[in-house]
Amino acid sequence: MLDPFGRHITYLRVSVTDRCDFRCVYCMAEDMAFLPKAEILSLEELDRLCSAFIAKGVNKLRLTGGEPLVRRDVMKLIRGLSRHLETGALDELTLTTNGSQLSRFASELAACGVRRINVSLDTLDPEKFAAVTRWGKLEKVLAGIDAAQAAGLAVKINAVALAGINEDEIPELLAWAHGRGMDLTLIETMPMGEIDVARADQYLPLSRVRERLEARWTLIDSPWRTGGPARYVDVKETGGRLGFITPLTHNFCESCNRVRVTCKGELFMCLGQDDRADLRTPMRASDGDELLSAAIDEAIARKPKGHDFVIERARPRPAVARHMSVTGG
Ligand code: SAM
Ligand code: SF4
Repeated sequence: MLDPFGRHITYLRVSVTDRCDFRCVYCMAEDMAFLPKAEILSLEELDRLCSAFIAKGVNKLRLTGGEPLVRRDVMKLIRGLSRHLETGALDELTLTTNGSQLSRFASELAACGVRRINVSLDTLDPEKFAAVTRWGKLEKVLAGIDAAQAAGLAVKINAVALAGINEDEIPELLAWAHGRGMDLTLIETMPMGEIDVARADQYLPLSRVRERLEARWTLIDSPWRTGGPARYVDVKETGGRLGFITPLTHNFCESCNRVRVTCKGELFMCLGQDDRADLRTPMRASDGDELLSAAIDEAIARKPKGHDFVIERARPRPAVARHMSVTGG
């Protein structure tokens, strides 16, 4: 799949549910309205959709959400999709998770051929963790990370940089992650969806974080790229890798290789734009995949050049109305 700007689309991120057992302050409002069950693709439909993209050249698949591991019987889907690893069509099957259910699922994930996972964790302070996630328990997530590493999964930690919340703690988070052999990626808050707090109060530019980290460590720019928005440095003293995702201070769209599907089968060609294509209707319209395949082609042909996120006090509305939990980040 080649888009109008010559970018090869080889990476699909699928949100398998919009539900979650946490209510992170930058992601969701506390009383979120979720989709009625009838709107959501069945596990069989999710498999069919992913397989259609794999047949068209997707070689990396990431399951996300909402929280992917709270979807009922999600392991059935993952086990099924792992057949594409066995045939070699898929290079990587992975997921992004809040870690709350990892104790239960880590070894089964490893058995399905999952090699690496991203775990979102913004703070190591139990009280702050409870405040940021509203409903989460830090010890459960830490136990999940232990289980994942014990099962042989490589874990990358993703942390959203939040002014006045984890700002002072980021050096400690880095030392902890690298001390356990886990890479760390820092993310700026993106203006997606109505939340209960002001985004401008949360926004912490990573340029500021980087300056503080440089007071303690030697950061060496790394050529490492994943085709995604992160830019990496190697931390000389720890030997670990640190990523920065800076949608607001750095535009990463020129190398974008990915598209996203929601749990109701909407294809988003860009995380920061509203244009989407309905894949559920063509999929349900026939048993064969011709209509689905044509709808995918038509959508890729209009993948936009990039997003235009801004966070300003004068512009309190989010850049896109949907929450990150709809497309999975
Ligand atoms: N529930 C899983 C988790 O938290 O890892 C997967 C879905 S979550 C939406 C994916 C990632 O998006 C998480 O790392 C989360 O911190 C990040 N995220 C959510 N809302 C965000 C926002 N408004 N700006 C930046 N990152 C956000
Ligand atoms: Fe749930 Fe992930 Fe959003 Fe937090 S960031 S509310 S864990 S979907």
